[in-house]
Amino acid sequence: MAQAKIQAPRGTLDVLPEDGARRRELVRLAEGIFGRAGYGYAETPIFESTELFARGVGDATDIVEKEMFTFEDQGGRSLTLRPEGTAGVCRAYVEHGLHKRPQPVRVWYLGPFFRHEAPQAGRYRQFAQIGAEALGSDDPSLDAELILLLSELLERAGARGLRLSIGSLGTPETRRTYSEELREHLREREDQLSEDVRARLDRNPLRAFDSDHPGTRAAVADAPRLIDRLAAEDSQHFTEVRALLDDAGLAYEVDGTLVRGLDYYTRTVFEFTSEALGAQSGVGGGGRYDRLVERLGGPPTPGVGWAAGVERILLASLAPAAEERPLVFVALERAEHRRAGFRLVRDLRAHGVAAQMEQAGRSLKGQLKHAARVGADRVVIVGADVLRVRDLRTRDERSAADPDEALALLLEQPPR
Ligand code: AMP
Repeated sequence: MAQAKIQAPRGTLDVLPEDGARRRELVRLAEGIFGRAGYGYAETPIFESTELFARGVGDATDIVEKEMFTFEDQGGRSLTLRPEGTAGVCRAYVEHGLHKRPQPVRVWYLGPFFRHEAPQAGRYRQFAQIGAEALGSDDPSLDAELILLLSELLERAGARGLRLSIGSLGTPETRRTYSEELREHLREREDQLSEDVRARLDRNPLRAFDSDHPGTRAAVADAPRLIDRLAAEDSQHFTEVRALLDDAGLAYEVDGTLVRGLDYYTRTVFEFTSEALGAQSGVGGGGRYDRLVERLGGPPTPGVGWAAGVERILLASLAPAAEERPLVFVALERAEHRRAGFRLVRDLRAHGVAAQMEQAGRSLKGQLKHAARVGADRVVIVGADVLRVRDLRTRDERSAADPDEALALLLEQPPR
């Protein structure tokens, strides 16, 4: 009896080779950009103690309340598949005493992240992020540097219709006072609010700014703005970040309602969106988190960083035209020529020439068709007494008596 097919879990994504090439290209781009700016590549575990996110990201956020993949291990410890990367990097910073190194410590990372969200175009339950963090300094040039690095990555990846919004959230103290004021404002309009926002009015009224609910949107339209309540120091910090971005010629819009979905942000927050995307228009964003390391048991340490979604960047960019690349295809007149063909392929690869051979039992005619399909520019037909080396572009053909001679011919005529 035929077995039922097994499907990938909802909201996950298979990356097939044609997409894989674009993803690798993006990673190479990121590597170059980060390398020049002094960011070192780091990896942290894909699962962490649940406590890290509860304390780091914040109990009253959507991510922690509803979206985490949490499980118990065999020893009864609560673990969570990481929903974001900053908390893990900060944990590692504390755990390995990185505050003793010269500051700031700059890292970038890449990998899978997990959120139990309703899947839709551009929104998955497992997605990949590229991210960067700079820990140990509150210098506004770091905020600007990180924003410019993300901007460069997105531009060079070919993301279309980009817009940058920036804001400042000040300190947790300012936010607390402001939250009171906002709560008052929203209470007066309580019957207009979505159930969600109403339920969290006590704990986290700022979330109202994230809502798409029409009544909530109307209620926040004339609400006081945190950005107008910043302490002098924070306001000055924000002015400096803006001046650095202005000098760099980067266009942005100041958005006094930008709150973002994580609780750890202080001062600068920012987000790039793309008009080329649908409802899920956020391509990447982040901000400063000057209290997070301390919240995770480390010394007071300012930090700033961002994460960008790999799938969203690729969705927002046009796929580049397929590149023509030199490739030799080794065709076999008969299956018994496999060994000679295999040796030639090995030798070609050892000399740095891309080579493939027939490995699916096609007829010679089928093999030549296949060679064109895989984009080969030259074909070697391995026969009993002779190997024919054919240039598919010029149709020029030369013969060789054995694989060594064929190899010499192929190497003397370097690929175009
Ligand atoms: P966040 O950590 O929420 O600031 O997200 C940073 C970036 O990650 C977003 O701008 C998106 O590009 C990407 N991202 C976040 N959640 C998802 C998701 N569920 N599916 C795909 N990409 C996501």
